[in-house]
Amino acid sequence: MRGEATPEAMADGAVIWHGSLFDITDLKRVEEELRALSVTDALTGIYNRRYFQERLQAELERARRDGAPLALIMLDVDHFKSVNDRFGHALGDSVLQALCRRIGARLRRSDVFCRLGGEEFMILCPATDQAQAQALAENLRQSLEQAPVDGVGIVTGSFGVAGWQAGEGADALLLRADAGVYAAKQKGRNRVEAQN
Ligand code: GH3
Ligand code: MG
Ligand code: MG
Repeated sequence: MRGEATPEAMADGAVIWHGSLFDITDLKRVEEELRALSVTDALTGIYNRRYFQERLQAELERARRDGAPLALIMLDVDHFKSVNDRFGHALGDSVLQALCRRIGARLRRSDVFCRLGGEEFMILCPATDQAQAQALAENLRQSLEQAPVDGVGIVTGSFGVAGWQAGEGADALLLRADAGVYAAKQKGRNRVEAQN
């Protein structure tokens, strides 16, 4: 409800308020829908890059304050261009959706799963150290490798893992996750590489 009222002073010192209350349930619902849309990736339904950036800042502040661990897992789909080339862009899109469902099913509620763009994804793992994140990434890697995607076959990913180090800023942490992906690609793809 939203209320508006104006006071009127009476001769005897009393005050009378004249006002009205409005039901703004619909307005609030639209606001919430817009907020959800602004942080959601339209293709996959997971969070978008904007939300990732927001949450990374918030989680870094929390990690600094509490000294709790924090880790990033970055994922780049292997040879995805050839999936598009062989099966078409539309099926490529449905592969991205299928991969997101499969990965999302293995994450904890507290993990923040985001599409950075194209076929690149990031998982922000609060209260998780680098070794734990590495184990999770390995689990995710196997979940992609072990089951084919309908109509396309096996699609693998290269994973970079970086655990937050005390004193480190967002850029340095992101750079290490990205370097992990790069190292995984260099070593032949379908791998997990952690960067210290
Ligand atoms: P690498 O193993 O080195 O990562 O090879 P790659 O082919 O995955 O890498 P590259 O960056 O060359 O190509 C990524 C491709 O992803 C290019 C583009 O056609 C495709 N792609 C990016 N965004 C989308 C999308 O939203 N839908 C579909 N279907 N394809 C996309
Ligand atoms: Mg890429
Ligand atoms: Mg790729």
